[in-house]
Amino acid sequence: MKRSSILIAALAVLSISAVVASAQTKSDVDKLYILNCGEGVAGDISRWSPGVDVGKSMDFVDNCYLIHHSLGWLLWDTGVADAIAAMPDGQAPADPKAIHWRRPKTLASQLDQLAVRPADIKFVAISHTHPDHIGNVELFPQAVLLVQKAEYDWPSPSGGGRFKPEHPVTELEGDYDVFGDGSVMIISTPGHTPGHQSLLVKLLKTGVLVLSGDAVHFKSNWENRRVPSINTDKDKTLISMQRIADLLAKENAQLWINHDKAQRDSLKMAPDYYD
Ligand SMILES: [Zn+2]
Repeated sequence: MKRSSILIAALAVLSISAVVASAQTKSDVDKLYILNCGEGVAGDISRWSPGVDVGKSMDFVDNCYLIHHSLGWLLWDTGVADAIAAMPDGQAPADPKAIHWRRPKTLASQLDQLAVRPADIKFVAISHTHPDHIGNVELFPQAVLLVQKAEYDWPSPSGGGRFKPEHPVTELEGDYDVFGDGSVMIISTPGHTPGHQSLLVKLLKTGVLVLSGDAVHFKSNWENRRVPSINTDKDKTLISMQRIADLLAKENAQLWINHDKAQRDSLKMAPDYYD
């Protein structure tokens, strides 16, 4: 072959692989915003990493993720309650080892800035029912909650239900393809709580993301497979972490860890977005 035909053949291979790549990453999700849903200080980080960094405090962040699909808006987690934004010193925890939360901005004000009305949100999917994730569920009384049955049925510490019984809900039993096209998938990752779940999102330019929920809280716990003492099931937590690791490898995906401040500091926040 002459040099020019080799070049043409090489270009043809390149363009075919480009077509294949864009077909694989086809997605009807065109925007993912990271919203500031809290900032806090953990009093003793060893609550999350037993035996390690005992007595040390650590900064935490709390994210919500607003996702636009051609079929509608989905909000992943709702953060600490907007009412905390009005507390000058934030909300101190009952246990000083836990997290002292502040809320620099309300969730409502961040949606307003994006010209998204709470009534526009079709689905509110919740990683789990701890207060730093469900603090604003009732801003969206019309939105369908996507929550595992095991989490929905888990009695609250006071013995009651975790959601208002009148709130529309789809109780899931395992993984769930939210829009039916594989672009936004709920992944069952129990262990932190009985019905904990994570979210896989396919974006055209950014690629595939896995949003952790609290399957893991920060990078060193991920790398060392450490299980917080507060988790309801250690074995299930480890199985869920491995499941996420396998998914990252299979999908060539990035793991975005909800509470990891260093990672969030490296990402762009709303009104910027990922596509
Ligand atoms: Zn959390």
